[in-house]
Amino acid sequence: MAKLKCHVIIVAYPAQGHINPLLQFAKRLASKGLKATLATTPYTINSIQASPAVGIEPISDGFDEGGFNQASSVEAYLESFKTTGSRTLTELILKFNATGFPISCIVYDSLLTWVLDVATRLRVYSALFLTNSASVCSMYWHFDKGVLDFPVKKETLPVSFPGLPPLGFFDLPSFLAFPTNHSAYLDAVFDGFHCLDETDWVFCNSFEDLEIELVKAMNGLWPVVMVGPMVPSAYLDQQIDGDTAYGASLWETETDQCLKWLDTKPSQSVIYVSFGSMANISAKQVEEMAWGLKASNRPFLWVIKESENKLPVDFLDSVGEIGLVVSWCNQLEVLTHQAIRCFVSHCGWNSTLEALSVGVPMVCVTQWSDQPTNAKFVEDVWKVGVRGKKDEEGIITREELEKCLKEVMGGERNREIKTNAYKWRDAAKKAVSMGGSSDTNINQFVSKLLIGKE
Ligand code: UDP
Repeated sequence: MAKLKCHVIIVAYPAQGHINPLLQFAKRLASKGLKATLATTPYTINSIQASPAVGIEPISDGFDEGGFNQASSVEAYLESFKTTGSRTLTELILKFNATGFPISCIVYDSLLTWVLDVATRLRVYSALFLTNSASVCSMYWHFDKGVLDFPVKKETLPVSFPGLPPLGFFDLPSFLAFPTNHSAYLDAVFDGFHCLDETDWVFCNSFEDLEIELVKAMNGLWPVVMVGPMVPSAYLDQQIDGDTAYGASLWETETDQCLKWLDTKPSQSVIYVSFGSMANISAKQVEEMAWGLKASNRPFLWVIKESENKLPVDFLDSVGEIGLVVSWCNQLEVLTHQAIRCFVSHCGWNSTLEALSVGVPMVCVTQWSDQPTNAKFVEDVWKVGVRGKKDEEGIITREELEKCLKEVMGGERNREIKTNAYKWRDAAKKAVSMGGSSDTNINQFVSKLLIGKE
């Protein structure tokens, strides 16, 4: 495809669940003939696999040697990124402008609203990219507008928002239900909503069919442009130009070992378990999970990052060949293996969307943030899985896990869940295929960019 005269810079927050969809968006833009550059922090940049289609450039968060872990708090980190990032991003854009690749548009992560000021100052288009579902974002927006008290009061339940099913207390994002010391993240998201009039587009990593009622409801308020799912094209039976590399991995992967082990297992037999990159699962929950998996008597592949390794001492010996525990893998490589039958997930938005996009039923073991809401949708709206119910201590017990696994893999609802999983997989593929809703939305964005900003 001939190169078009447009250069888009995409600024990603340096976490796995943010770099993945934004890198994928960059690849999709590059496949439309744009020049696309992903900018993120020096500490994470080496974890991103090179792709001939997408340039990768560093901007500083002020912690070039150790990244987020060097900051004293989430607030301190976000503040440092704002100050140092504004300066280094401006320098990067001016460098591009001076060397014949001027920037037409800056796409910014929903945790990095300060990028909008850079775009305004440099008079280029700007686009906010939401890394949560549109439904969760609309909830945050309504709360920010003061439609409901924050934190939500039990008397006002169930909460109803336009385009969403009635939501109970435990269906709400934890940031709204339980204000915690993580609220700096929510403030950053709110900042993005305060500037919606100033930004040219609001993209979301989702697709129209998946959240159609919400899209209709939001249309008159702030039109959200669905461009997802941001899953590497190869896993959607597509091959877009330049989308050859897997993407990014902030930890060393043990994917080859996983795939070899999966090859020895029967088709549709294995439970895949992962809680994503950020969840800090309690030792008690890990223990319940371990014995619940063992009791299910099915093969399982469990990803637990080193720091979270709280497995009971005798667990691995007791399960033998039936279980494999690794610290990290390329999740989509594993999820699309024919031996995988079910995904026990924390329901981070990327993991949820990935499971939906490749048709794998889910058991939801949620922790915080948007995960409870995603799980509510998995069970009651998309009907592709079940939620584990927590006990009074907030734990999903081994018995509960075993019950959920039975339901998804062999119970009464198993057939319905599987049929729905395939339905959403096909809908996801359709959305990003030529002429699909997300593909059309991206084409419209590209056409507007080509006209240029007045
Ligand atoms: N992931 C991965 N390997 C793993 C676990 C997770 O590649 O072993 C990826 C997964 O495919 C997803 C991202 O990490 O794209 C996690 O994002 P998500 O929103 O699900 O959860 P978070 O890590 O933000 O809590």
